[in-house]
Amino acid sequence: MSKNWTEELWLLLGIAALAAGAGLLTGKFLLCTLSGVLIYLAWHLYHITRLPHLLGEHQQTAITPSAGLWKGIFREITRQQTTGHKREHRLLRDLNRFRDTVSVLPDAVVLLGHDGTIDWTNPAAATLLGISRTESAGQQFVDMVRDPVLEEYLADKDFEHPLIVTAPANKSKILSLYVTFLDKGQQLQMIVARDITRQYHLDTAQQDFVANVSHELRTPLTVITGLLEQLDPDKHEPPPRERAIELMQKQAARMGELITDLLELSHLELTRKPPADNRVPVPGLLAAIVEEAQALSDSTNHIMQVEIHSAAGLRGDRKELRTAFSNLVTNAIRHTPDRTEVCIRWWVDSDGAHFGVSDNGAGIAARHLPRLTERLYRVDASRSRKTGGTGLGLAIVKQVLDRHQAVLEITSQVGRGSTFICHFPVRSVITPEMMQDLAISE
Ligand code: ADP
Repeated sequence: MSKNWTEELWLLLGIAALAAGAGLLTGKFLLCTLSGVLIYLAWHLYHITRLPHLLGEHQQTAITPSAGLWKGIFREITRQQTTGHKREHRLLRDLNRFRDTVSVLPDAVVLLGHDGTIDWTNPAAATLLGISRTESAGQQFVDMVRDPVLEEYLADKDFEHPLIVTAPANKSKILSLYVTFLDKGQQLQMIVARDITRQYHLDTAQQDFVANVSHELRTPLTVITGLLEQLDPDKHEPPPRERAIELMQKQAARMGELITDLLELSHLELTRKPPADNRVPVPGLLAAIVEEAQALSDSTNHIMQVEIHSAAGLRGDRKELRTAFSNLVTNAIRHTPDRTEVCIRWWVDSDGAHFGVSDNGAGIAARHLPRLTERLYRVDASRSRKTGGTGLGLAIVKQVLDRHQAVLEITSQVGRGSTFICHFPVRSVITPEMMQDLAISE
């Protein structure tokens, strides 16, 4: 028999003995026995009335010890309540930790209830999906987002593949949106939207690049193959030989240029080696570039102006820097009409060294500017092909500058002209004094 039962029996016996003693003394045996039974019943009733309070949800006070069977019952209640509180505390802590973690995620997270209403959102949901936490609670998700593509995707309930969609709150961003069910009954949903704008543009640029390279190489090849067919001696009336050969040479040279530039670009992109640490005498280098450019502009009558404001040089790879500067000067001649003014500037200030090429040509519309350094991106493809160039010039400039921790700034206004400036950090500048004993002639 358990200890509590023994105690209970002793309690019962005690009350019975007291009642019997009182009955013997007073002679009212029945009344005293009845009083004993009532006292025993009152003892139990008292404990029963305490139970609801003790079992209450937020019961925090310690349970007063009792005796007999109630001692065991109260002890068990105390044990269960302590375990329950600890579990509740743990769950609350885990939930807060989960919310804190999800709150700092760059991905938008929305938890939906049974009927598609919003239960909870993190701060990123406001910036990407336009759902603010304060206004959205209890609202329908589709009503808050108001995007037909998203609405259709949710209605179809086929969530095997994510939805790629423009961010409802910011049309310049691209989102990849996933939907996951949180319960077996597929009622509670978690929507996660990730900003994939950068990756999306990279993928698009990559696809465009492959398509463009194929196109660039196929055009000259088609010309050459066509002419070769016509030169076939079995064919009647072949075209004049000299003209055909001249055309084929031109197209072959074009293909050669493209392949050379592609190889140069991929070498720059793939090489892990930092650029050579030459002391590059920029003023001398510019003199050579300008001389070449003048030869190119002879037929176009461009007006060249050169402003060298500093005798300082640069730390870096002479060949790479020459290519980058030369590409910018050549572009200013190639992509502007005859008699355009081209100004080449070199100066040093407290921010570092700067090489700029400005022209007063037709300029470039703002929407093209962010894409100009993409491989084979051209403002006007057919025109640019006619004026020469491979469409890789600015991509090469950007790579060279990246390797030299420099940046390219492009500003342009349609009808007024364009300016391309390479900004080099102070640590790349070699002072004129240091350059003096290194008069490297180009
Ligand atoms: P490309 O070999 O065609 O010159 P780039 O990468 O050097 O290729 O230049 C990309 C495009 O940027 C050119 O096709 C041209 O449309 C535009 N561009 C570059 N420089 C200028 C400029 N100074 N003025 C107007 N458009 C320019």
